[in-house]
Amino acid sequence: MPALPLPGATLAHGLRPCLEFDDKNSSAWCSNLNCVFDAAVVGAGPAGSMAAYQLARAGVRVLLLEKETAPRYKPCAGGLTPKTVQEVPFDLDDLVEDVCQDFQVSLRLGQPFRRRYPHPMVYMVMRDRFDQYLTERAVQAGVVLRDGSPATGVELRPVYAEVRTKGDTFRVAALVGADGANGVVARSLGLGSDFHHWVAWESEVVPDDVDLERWRGLIGIDLGTLRGGGYAWVFPKRDLLSVGAGGCTQVGRDLRGYCDRFVAGLGLRSARALRQRGHLLPIRPRGSPIQLGRALLAGDAAGLVDASTGEGIYWAVRSGKLAASAVLELLAGEIQDLESYERRVDDELMPELLAARRWVSLYLWAPALCSLLIHRSDPFWQTICMLFRGDQGYQDVARLLGPLRFLPSLLPEVDGKARHSAMR
Ligand SMILES: Cc1cc2nc3c(=O)[nH]c(=O)nc-3n(C[C@H](O)[C@H](O)[C@H](O)COP(=O)(O)OP(=O)(O)OC[C@H]3O[C@@H](n4cnc5c(N)ncnc54)[C@H](O)[C@@H]3O)c2cc1C
Repeated sequence: MPALPLPGATLAHGLRPCLEFDDKNSSAWCSNLNCVFDAAVVGAGPAGSMAAYQLARAGVRVLLLEKETAPRYKPCAGGLTPKTVQEVPFDLDDLVEDVCQDFQVSLRLGQPFRRRYPHPMVYMVMRDRFDQYLTERAVQAGVVLRDGSPATGVELRPVYAEVRTKGDTFRVAALVGADGANGVVARSLGLGSDFHHWVAWESEVVPDDVDLERWRGLIGIDLGTLRGGGYAWVFPKRDLLSVGAGGCTQVGRDLRGYCDRFVAGLGLRSARALRQRGHLLPIRPRGSPIQLGRALLAGDAAGLVDASTGEGIYWAVRSGKLAASAVLELLAGEIQDLESYERRVDDELMPELLAARRWVSLYLWAPALCSLLIHRSDPFWQTICMLFRGDQGYQDVARLLGPLRFLPSLLPEVDGKARHSAMR
């Protein structure tokens, strides 16, 4: 365990723990670890590990609570866009299982066509290894990890936040809820109840060597089969293929069947399914609160998922960083609560997430036209690739429309709320 400063010690960069406990000998102390914490982070996914890492680097005494023990399985296709790789402050080379720039696209499970982009589009990782790696970096920076230790509830008091596990209660100056979809922190604080949801089904498939080789560097996508948005995918890994489908909650019951038909259409020989699981992707409606007093939500817990693609790791990492900087300001006594975090999420993250929800309505309205444009139009294909990679944002694309740039704001927002019934 890393050496920790004694309670009351001045933090790095002149920060001071701003706790004023009425009873300093009570649960402010974690008796097992013989230390006191300034901040607690619940959930060691990308959002939680990133927030904890940034805080520890600034000299904050951070407790990271994780329900599972590493390496833990997480239903996720494990695709990192280049913009995500750029945001992660560690070298990910050893974790990358494949780098993809080729696409095989089909419309409504029909005959597929191929497309290629001259630069990497997606870096593939296994989430158990990726998440463990980020958590290890946080621990190396000084974070105290308690895994196998689910938070069971949270309470806020004027001068501290309290987080409970089965055996302990911790009082901290600030609390980050990064415990994913339907997390206990959001529930305890009465936040997130208005979130919409995407639902996704994931299967890890082991094909024979010939098929594995055929999918090297190649992503498979099926468009237009699900109503209300969504798609099916194949993401190649070193020894297996992640195959899945996701869409609005109303298609939930049909996802597994859709996924099976998609896999059958791929013609994989002697493919063996290792793991199959469904999971929710929460979508934050505009203006929904993600902060209360000394507590805030980050990543999936805050509903920060791109409703057009289901991408969430980038937003988890970005919001984890924003969470850490707000907590640092609170600990330094510059602010009295974490309201500024929500403002920064609204200013820095939500405009792109909201714009993505508008643009994807074009795909819902005319999937066949979108598929045709992807197939035949180089400018359209390049624009999509640049958006996906993070080379430009939706707002940059709108600017290209010149005097017509107001048009995207007329498009309806697609936010995971079911409006149509199931499959086409
Ligand atoms: C099928 C599927 C495929 C996806 N594919 C991609 C993809 O290819 N690329 C991409 O960018 N995004 C993808 N996503 C989205 C992405 O997985 C999430 O957005 C991302 O994991 C969010 O990170 P997070 O840290 O907020 O939450 P999580 O990664 O969910 O981490 C939350 C952590 O909190 C822990 N936890 C939960 N409850 C408690 C508790 N009470 N106490 C302590 N710990 C707790 C969990 O064990 C977990 O470790 C996919 C999602 C799904 C469902």
